[in-house]
Amino acid sequence: MHKRLQKNDVLFLSATALLLAAVLAAMLLFRGKSGKQVVITVDREVFGTYPLSQDNVVRIDTGTSVNELTIENGTAKMTEADCPDKLCMHQKAISRERETIVCLPNKIVVTVTGGGDSSLDAIVN
Ligand SMILES: [Zn+2]
Repeated sequence: MHKRLQKNDVLFLSATALLLAAVLAAMLLFRGKSGKQVVITVDREVFGTYPLSQDNVVRIDTGTSVNELTIENGTAKMTEADCPDKLCMHQKAISRERETIVCLPNKIVVTVTGGGDSSLDAIVN
């Protein structure tokens, strides 16, 4: 009896994981490749979304730290950061879907997405 329950649990979890993967894959497929943008999150909360097609300097003021992301010629790069390690500033400019720049000390993640809405991010979070 006990063994049987465990097996069912495993099956249920696998099915759930498969379904989730299928949904995510479908969403990625239907997102389209045009209109790329960067999504900036601070401590897993969405700070803002900015199109890569538009040159911009985004000041990411989290209240305790300040970073600056520069969008230029369709790429995004961390150009200023007050974190101690400055690793984010040494990461290469991103422009392709799902590329990221991470500032670990300041809990900032910048991700390139294929445009469209942010429903994918809502599911992942
Ligand atoms: Zn940093």
